[in-house]
Amino acid sequence: MSEKIRMINGQLQVPAEPIIPYIEGDGVGQDIWKSTQTIIDAAVEKVYAGKRRIKWQEVLAGEKAYATTGTSLPKETLETIKSHLVAIKGPLGTPVGEGHRSLNVALRQELDLYACVRPIRYFKGVPSPLKEPEKTDMTIFRENTEDIYAGIEWEMGTREVKQVIDFLENTMQVKKIRFPHSSSIGIKPISKEGSQRLIRAAIDYALEKNLKRVTLVHKGNIQKFTEGGFRKWGYELAEHEYADALHDGRLEINDIIADNFLQQILLAPEKFDVVALTNLNGDYASDALAAQVGGIGIAPGANINYQTGHAVFEATHGTAPDIAGQNKANPCSLILSACMMLDYIGWQEVSAALITALEKTIQSGQVTGDFATSMGVEALTTSQFARKILEKL
Ligand code: NAD
Repeated sequence: MSEKIRMINGQLQVPAEPIIPYIEGDGVGQDIWKSTQTIIDAAVEKVYAGKRRIKWQEVLAGEKAYATTGTSLPKETLETIKSHLVAIKGPLGTPVGEGHRSLNVALRQELDLYACVRPIRYFKGVPSPLKEPEKTDMTIFRENTEDIYAGIEWEMGTREVKQVIDFLENTMQVKKIRFPHSSSIGIKPISKEGSQRLIRAAIDYALEKNLKRVTLVHKGNIQKFTEGGFRKWGYELAEHEYADALHDGRLEINDIIADNFLQQILLAPEKFDVVALTNLNGDYASDALAAQVGGIGIAPGANINYQTGHAVFEATHGTAPDIAGQNKANPCSLILSACMMLDYIGWQEVSAALITALEKTIQSGQVTGDFATSMGVEALTTSQFARKILEKL
């Protein structure tokens, strides 16, 4: 009987037939979701021989939702994901125009999915701009709810920005706004609570996977209290909550300034295991790292609230309008996001089987168009590539 996944006493309870809501996604979402679903179902069947299976439940968002309900993110979609805890999604286009917020951002905010988790690893055979791409193997924990993404800013010339500048100059005695009459102003909130829950998730992940180093990436040399706070609160958390692991050598905390981090991931990526970053730094770094190991077509991601258990796994690329509907897109990002989901619900045997099949497929030169040219092989369509993975399962 299919049932919901639940969180009981801080532990995820996963039935043998969990109901998992999915959002197919816009654009290439339709090309890659079907293949991904078929592959996951086949892998689950292969490993558990009918004893476990996923009961998929489609929920609408994006263009499909707009066409049938007149809204891009219907309440029922949010409610269903809220009550089922774990969901997976294809890419969603950001509706253009005033008043439309990004659906991805809306989902993250509504469910308070504070950790954006991106494992970055190299799959042999994938074209990369690096000489030794296999040295890049780390997991990024990007804070997902604070920083400039809080969206608090005022436009140059408005009454509001004048009020803010007046307050800063006359009440706070700020004398450093270089051009007060032609400035827009943005606010960057970074809290101890928000930083520590993210860094705690990164440390727990490191300990669970027997990875030693957790690196705090920040710009605290310039922004002492926001970025510097992230660093300071990270060290404090480690000392207070992980003293044993620190002292018996299972855990090592260090920190690095964001610009140096971007240099080091190219020069010495092997220095990093698990990395915790503030929101904006994490945004830049995760795309740069994805590019190092083959680009967004193969980079998986998850947005997680480890306290409530809510987790939305997603392809990290966009809707790729230039190739949508052409059966050309690389489904690896969504397949690997599904692997993260399987790990999260404790079905690691299935994700391991899937990753092995995917690796073998890529290594044998069977790839989609985004990899084919630089590998000097013929491009497979999305569905041909998916069939090759199925054969190797
Ligand atoms: P994009 O990621 O859609 O495309 C960038 C480039 O990468 C394109 O050349 C595209 O063809 C290629 N590409 C992307 N995914 C691919 C795949 N699976 N296989 C092969 N090639 C792939 O970025 P964009 O064009 O800037 O954004 C298009 C839309 O997607 C926008 O509306 C944007 O808001 C949205 N978007 C959504 C998400 C998300 O849902 N998580 C993320 C980024 C962008």
